[in-house]
Amino acid sequence: MQCLFCDIIEKKRPSRIIYEDDHAVAFEDINPQAPVHTLIVPKKHISTNLEITDADNWLIGHLFQIANSVARSKGIAENGFRLVMNCNRGAGQTVFHIHLHVLGGRLMHWPPG
Ligand code: 5GP
Ligand code: ZN
Repeated sequence: MQCLFCDIIEKKRPSRIIYEDDHAVAFEDINPQAPVHTLIVPKKHISTNLEITDADNWLIGHLFQIANSVARSKGIAENGFRLVMNCNRGAGQTVFHIHLHVLGGRLMHWPPG
């Protein structure tokens, strides 16, 4: 199965990885929408938010903990940042391996586009 983010996780495709552990990887988005735009992905291939099961509960919490670490280390935690997970095409999902977007370093508008 061809998956862009599995390829990044397996280092078959280059990326700017800023964090990695046994369960997840964080890397810089190739087309940043804010001064900070980092993607947090589980190493387990889960195609959309809808495929998350009870067995993944710890893993999903872990992604949020990594997002907090990224926000703190990049100095955007205090001011504020946004976490986004698009689910399916109508919401803008283009890569079907779940990922948490960490966006910050500028004023984040609401409602989002
Ligand atoms: P989605 O639209 O699925 O929520 O988010 C996919 C994100 O992956 C987009 O923000 C896009 O810029 C990013 N992206 C797509 N291809 C690559 C790639 O090859 N490398 C990196 N680092 N990011 C990518
Ligand atoms: Zn994948």
